[in-house]
Amino acid sequence: MINQTSVQLGSVRSVIRELFEYGKKRKAQIGEDNVFDFSLGNPSVAPPAIVEETLVDILTHGDPVAIHGYTSAQGDVSVRQAIADYINSRFSVGIGADNIYMTCGAAASLCITLNALLNEGDEVITIAPYFPEYKVFTEHARGKLVPVQGTEGTFQPDIVAIKAAITPDTKAILINSPNNPSGVVYTEQAIKDICKILQECKENGQTIYLISDEPYRELVFGGVKVPYIMNYYADSIVCYSYSKSLSLPGERIGYIAVNPACGNAAEVYAAVCGAGRALGYVCAPSLFQHLIARVIGTTSDISVYERNRNRLASALESYGFEVVRPDGAFYLFVKSLEPDSDAFAERAKQHELLIVSAKSFGVEGYVRVSYCVEPDMIERSLPAFKALAKSYKK
Ligand code: PLP
Repeated sequence: MINQTSVQLGSVRSVIRELFEYGKKRKAQIGEDNVFDFSLGNPSVAPPAIVEETLVDILTHGDPVAIHGYTSAQGDVSVRQAIADYINSRFSVGIGADNIYMTCGAAASLCITLNALLNEGDEVITIAPYFPEYKVFTEHARGKLVPVQGTEGTFQPDIVAIKAAITPDTKAILINSPNNPSGVVYTEQAIKDICKILQECKENGQTIYLISDEPYRELVFGGVKVPYIMNYYADSIVCYSYSKSLSLPGERIGYIAVNPACGNAAEVYAAVCGAGRALGYVCAPSLFQHLIARVIGTTSDISVYERNRNRLASALESYGFEVVRPDGAFYLFVKSLEPDSDAFAERAKQHELLIVSAKSFGVEGYVRVSYCVEPDMIERSLPAFKALAKSYKK
């Protein structure tokens, strides 16, 4: 018999994908413009012009053998050095090329990091709501995901609950800020409080790693700061991706950064390289590694997302929806108008609104509305949201 866990994972589509597929069918039936698809987190803004210009330049003037050839397993050293220099210029953490491992996006960064750290049965605490693939990635790395509910209403980490969830088997805490699906940015105080608990554990002889999943780091609005975990806690690892910040999700490029201040940084980095090797995640796409080294620090035009957020959040609030005001990413977390958010998302479909029940993100009573969409679709969808709210007032 072949591996039944893999069969199961490959046979069942995620709730989000299911909804997206439904949307495609529905659009074919009633027309593109009549379905309001807020299901996916696919950037709606094009990459900045410098991406295409630089790619053309690399392809025109570069050595094709080098551009398309293998790099070192952990990534080209000059690319890793450029990323390290950039991180140091922003956060002064003294990181070097040998603390960076190039990957195929945040998903690969997470899989490698979890496989690098976990032994059979180790526990990974995460804060709900959380990205559903965390469970898949953690279990594949032989671990157990332990979700801890965020504080109702704000969805900031609940420090007391996190402390209570720590056991002798806890190996890591996995955080994601700006958060998918809530859009919430964890406050500096919350990060400090988490790090204080981890420091206490360390003093008692238990090292717990802090893993920060950061595909949305640059997508923040109104000058909100996203604390850089390496500035707060030594045993920390950043899983970064250019999927959202440069609108390059299909190109699969990102990196893992191991804090050089980590107690056993060289060993952790060796484990990252080893896990990357064992998983076959070596030599991330070479052309895009070289691109990143040249465009580092630029982002897509995120002002579009900010305008979408403002328009959608204000309109929904005016119809009576309770919205968790997001400071980042491109998701709006909206309180369901009935206790069962699955039933609420189903009812939204009757108004041709495709929104995702938050049950698969580990939280009851909310839905996620992805606003990485054309502003025009938001305008056209507003009467449907209004009608949905009204249907609960009867
Ligand atoms: N982590 C979170 C929180 C995400 O939302 C996503 C993608 O949507 C990922 C990781 C995976 O990102 P990537 O496309 O870079 O693999």
